[in-house]
Amino acid sequence: MTTVDAKEQWLADWSQRYKKDTTRCTRCLYDEDTPAITFDADGVCNYCQMHDSLAWQPPDVDWELVEMVKKRLGLTDAQFEEHMTQPVKTYKDFKTHKRLFERLRPLFWLLSRADLIPRSFYLKYTSKKNI
Ligand SMILES: [Zn+2]
Repeated sequence: MTTVDAKEQWLADWSQRYKKDTTRCTRCLYDEDTPAITFDADGVCNYCQMHDSLAWQPPDVDWELVEMVKKRLGLTDAQFEEHMTQPVKTYKDFKTHKRLFERLRPLFWLLSRADLIPRSFYLKYTSKKNI
């Protein structure tokens, strides 16, 4: 059995394993059948501990690259600093067709049912919740 087959089988057996009375991580869904898993005294698995150890750290800045970009764009240090300190924008700050798609949700539902648009489009772009 190749590694890919083993992973697929592991995933396929998930629903059966989940019903068994097994030791599970207290933070995620991994159980004792997960390959190479260990649990600490609090029942947290080694994969959760690994995830925690990969906490966000500020990126290394290549200052030569920054200087090259500033030179290319013709920005002074003050202009560059102004750009870098502007408030962070999200998709909500830009004009989109989302409101129109939400109003046309029934149409997109029909199109989705007829396989004329992907179901993921219908779910994502016509939902009034922020998915
Ligand atoms: Zn875990």
